[in-house]
Amino acid sequence: MADRTSTTETVKKEARELEHDSTVSPRLIEKPGNGSPPPSPVRDSAKAKIQVNNLNFWYGTKQVLRNISMSIKANEVTAFIGPSGCGKSTFLRCLNRMNDLVPNSHIEGEVLIDGRNIYQNADPVMVRRRIGMVFQKPNPFPKTIYQNVIWGAAINGYKGDKDELVERCLRQAALWDEVKDRLHDNAYGLSGGQQQRLCIARTLAVQPDVILMDEPASALDPIATAKLEETIRDLKSRYTIIIVTHNMQQASRVSDTTAFFYLGELVEMSETEALFTRPRNQRTEDYITGRFG
Ligand code: ADP
Ligand code: MG
Repeated sequence: MADRTSTTETVKKEARELEHDSTVSPRLIEKPGNGSPPPSPVRDSAKAKIQVNNLNFWYGTKQVLRNISMSIKANEVTAFIGPSGCGKSTFLRCLNRMNDLVPNSHIEGEVLIDGRNIYQNADPVMVRRRIGMVFQKPNPFPKTIYQNVIWGAAINGYKGDKDELVERCLRQAALWDEVKDRLHDNAYGLSGGQQQRLCIARTLAVQPDVILMDEPASALDPIATAKLEETIRDLKSRYTIIIVTHNMQQASRVSDTTAFFYLGELVEMSETEALFTRPRNQRTEDYITGRFG
């Protein structure tokens, strides 16, 4: 088989370098939270794919995230819910350093991915490659379907079989059968739902292991939404997925764990079914029963 790329090699090399990063305390990797205040809703944090400890975030002088700690397991779908403006998108962007691009923003606390702090001695571009993002509105480039998928991988010097990569990513994004005969048509000719799955394929092509999705179905009709949710469920065997959604039915259909945010705080995080049927916190109950939001 053809050499499966320098991208993979670069990722592996950087991962090895990260493992040997001496700025990350080995004690911290073994026992997140040891020596610092215990993260609240931690479940088996030693095995967490993502561990957030005491995260605070400001836009200028306005604090929008307060002391958030959580643990996210690999190969699960985690949903973030909460009323508009409570900080879900901001928190999501903290998980791949996307907020670094916002002038005058400031973050404190830790985000560990596989035990490594992504804010310490890590290249933000590399971080965003490993932790991919799909946005609210499908945003394909005005290029062909094929070029859209290969774009990020090509920039990163992908040397492997491009046709194979395009097919594999489109299959994983559950779009292949719909587009295999028109790979060289413009992506703008696809429906909204197809465009969103194309954006997922484009994200997969740079070989992330975590995928962040910020209200990915909010611009889609119910049929396209159902298809997208099915795709998300299929992807979790290979990826760790976090989805922000304002739709509680969607959270319960698609996620294993749900986190409820309110006014910049993480109020409650539980198994999805438990959160929706037996919320532990009054504010969660008020929100899921529609008393506010
Ligand atoms: P959600 O995704 O839950 O609707 P956001 O994370 O978008 O919430 O916003 C949280 C708070 O931060 C809101 O008060 C919002 O107005 C504010 N905010 C979001 N982005 C910026 C920004 N770039 N600059 C200043 N304030 C922002
Ligand atoms: Mg948002």
